[in-house]
Amino acid sequence: MTAALESRVNPASDYEALIEFLYLTPVGIIKFRPDGRIEMANAAAAQLLMPLAADRDLSDLYRVFSSTAPDLRARIERFQASYGQICEQVQLAVPGTRTVLTLGINKIDPDTLMAVIEDITRAIEQETRIRDDQQRFRAIFENVRDYAIFTVGLDGRIDEWNRSLSRLGGWEAVDVAGAPIDILFPSGQAGKPCGAALLDRTRQHGTAEFEGWGVRKDGSAFWGNTVATALPDREGRASGYVLVTRDLTERKQMEDRLVALATTDPLTGAYNRRAGEARLAEAFRSWQFHGRMFTLLMIDCDHFKDVNDRWGHDAGDEVLRALVRICGENTRATDVTIRWGGEEFLLLQPETSCETALVVAERLRLAIEAAKIASYGGAITVTVSIGVANANKADAGADDVVRRVDRALYRAKGAGRNQVVAG
Ligand code: GH3
Ligand code: MG
Ligand code: MG
Repeated sequence: MTAALESRVNPASDYEALIEFLYLTPVGIIKFRPDGRIEMANAAAAQLLMPLAADRDLSDLYRVFSSTAPDLRARIERFQASYGQICEQVQLAVPGTRTVLTLGINKIDPDTLMAVIEDITRAIEQETRIRDDQQRFRAIFENVRDYAIFTVGLDGRIDEWNRSLSRLGGWEAVDVAGAPIDILFPSGQAGKPCGAALLDRTRQHGTAEFEGWGVRKDGSAFWGNTVATALPDREGRASGYVLVTRDLTERKQMEDRLVALATTDPLTGAYNRRAGEARLAEAFRSWQFHGRMFTLLMIDCDHFKDVNDRWGHDAGDEVLRALVRICGENTRATDVTIRWGGEEFLLLQPETSCETALVVAERLRLAIEAAKIASYGGAITVTVSIGVANANKADAGADDVVRRVDRALYRAKGAGRNQVVAG
């Protein structure tokens, strides 16, 4: 028989086990008489009561509690029944300390009472700390200005939000409560809603960041940086997400302006040569590694010196602006117009065959020839010569294609101008 079982069937060791339990338990247990006389107190009780007893005398419970619970005797005397619970977990603050005790008293019989005392100081401190943390978090959550903070459930729907969300996007509580996060971050080019993609990545990696366009309630766009973090439950599984979005629209607009300044030709709005070279290099890599064909048109105004001489330099500038505008009107959004030199432009057409490019070139030539370009001195008409060339396997870089298109242009000039020649 094991010792435990033995003790259960043996009344003598049962009693010993009880005494041992009473002495070792961290809860203070006191047996006392109705007149307050303490008959038995375990070690924990002695430890808890000692600081209360002014004269270190633990013989009378009412005296020990005289300043902490002065009404204890009256309370016990009021209890008429011969047994039962007199009080349960009454909180007592120990004067002059941070200690908080709970006291429970049971009447066992008319002559015997049992008190149970517990020190709950740490539990209270912990509770206070948690409450303070929650209040601090609430204060941040509600009042932080430039950050919208909101929580999203596993289903991708918005649970909670702070006021910044209305400052950021004009959204009100009724608009976003339970709404999918995609109302803030709709589809990107890849088709999957940005919001949903962000949550996917957060689920996989615990945290994810997204910088891009979001939508305000009025339909206008804002540029935001969003950091999403998965909120784990007790078992460590994601139970939802917290998202913090910062409105960076102004920064983005400034960056865009700087990029535009650095990459755009101020006269015509076309790409400047440096930015153009970068786009050419990019197109060449795409051809080299993915076989995506690109074609170049080199467009040069015929007898432009004569335009300047006859109409003046400002009118010449107007003609250059008109040429870029006509190029834009006659090509796709993905095509890139580059001011390559004075009155010489490169048109980069990604993913375009030479045959298609020839058609575009001819359309452009005709559109330019037909245009009446307004200037102070009157309507100006000009013609252009266009060389066309596309990348081929022997090319080592974009420069080779540029050289070929330049030669084609030269041939167009030599053949009488106002025409398209393929290189
Ligand atoms: P071609 O048909 O052989 O091309 O004759 P062209 O007169 O156009 O010859 P060329 O290419 O030598 O002349 C280019 C002229 O373009 C010279 C220059 O004064 C003028 N030019 C260059 N940049 C600008 C500009 O920004 N504004 C104006 N108005 N003229 C410019
Ligand atoms: Mg010229
Ligand atoms: Mg020229």
